Amino acid sequence: MIKHSLITALLCLLAAPAFAQTTIIHAGKMIDVESGKVLQDQYIFVEDGVITNIGTKADVKAAKKDSAVKFIDLSKMTVLPGLSDSHVHLTSDGKTHGYKTLGVSLPRATINGVMNAEKTLMAGFTSVRNLGAPGFADIALMNAVDDGDVIGPRIIPAGRSLGITGGHCDSNLLPHKYKDKAGGGADGPWGVRTKVRENNKYGAKVIKFCGTGGVLSTGTKIGAQQYSFVEMKAIVDEAALLGLKVAVHAHGEDGINTAIRAGVDSVEHASFISDAGIKAAKERGTYLSMDIYVSDYILSEGEEAGILEESLAKERTVGKKQRERFQAAVRSGVNIAYGTDAGVYPHGLNARQLSYMVKWGMRPVQAVQTATIGNATLFGMQDKTGSISVGKFADIIAVDGDPLADIKELEDVDFVMKGGVVYKD
Ligand SMILES: [Zn+2]
Repeated sequence: MIKHSLITALLCLLAAPAFAQTTIIHAGKMIDVESGKVLQDQYIFVEDGVITNIGTKADVKAAKKDSAVKFIDLSKMTVLPGLSDSHVHLTSDGKTHGYKTLGVSLPRATINGVMNAEKTLMAGFTSVRNLGAPGFADIALMNAVDDGDVIGPRIIPAGRSLGITGGHCDSNLLPHKYKDKAGGGADGPWGVRTKVRENNKYGAKVIKFCGTGGVLSTGTKIGAQQYSFVEMKAIVDEAALLGLKVAVHAHGEDGINTAIRAGVDSVEHASFISDAGIKAAKERGTYLSMDIYVSDYILSEGEEAGILEESLAKERTVGKKQRERFQAAVRSGVNIAYGTDAGVYPHGLNARQLSYMVKWGMRPVQAVQTATIGNATLFGMQDKTGSISVGKFADIIAVDGDPLADIKELEDVDFVMKGGVVYKD
């Protein structure tokens, strides 16, 4: 008994400084994404992974008396909140498409996820929504990151994407005799409700479903609606009962409009969204998560990666049109998320889309806002992350240039902190 308490006391003694330690970051320039302003010489106080103060030089002087305080000098850099991607597939990579995907086992896909999670964090992305993975691999990944066993961003996993039989979220590569069917396949209002409940049972934190055909699936028409209004409404209602948000994959106008009416939180791709669709999204507060970079990768590298001609032909009809609709969306003032579909192209390049968003109508600070406070709000995590504010997680990145003068600076992030832990310096 005595021995036990002695050990406990010793452990407490050893552990105490680590927990009580304050880290102070001197940010030469800091982008305040809530006001859109750049602040000079800010001192960010971090304790137990959380921002406890954004102080003055006097606060720093007082803190300096405590020898346990650790200083991080980013006085020559621009500091901003960790970035976020609302649409990734960590278990996929950009080099494996089409029939090549049939050779990837679930354990192999999970190992891909481990590697890609680290690449994503090192690129400055401290939180992501993983919109679809086989066999709940993304949920295992989230748990491994949260347990500190794997290096990666905060992950909001969808588990299996729901989809109609033969739709974009089904597997349609093999003939009937192989009886191949995606795990998220479900039809009818009760079928989809059951699937939502299963995803929730195994740990999904968001629900994703396919509301139209898509580029990378075989046998689907990109603009054609998948799921009726009744089925979409059943998905959204069931998810709401379970406290989960809903993301819909949708390219075509009818699928987009029907999903917005059913009450989804975000429309992924939104390639052919009409003016009426943008208006409806704006009225309801629906986010548009438009992946306007990926087209360039698909059309330049896709064939070698195994993307089928059928898919390349579809992409040729989407890319430019989607960018034009993105421009219209920006002008309208509708909520825009930062979603890239990383996994279709290599992870770690998530920031490449920022310059496309600037080229197609956003001010640089607006693009940064979509990838920080905007996404955090879509995820329902705006009280915990998305800006450098007291009470939020210390998810902080820095670059040596000025990203508001050249947004491409964010493609090469020099400093990454997540939850107060420095991963890249
Ligand atoms: Zn996707």
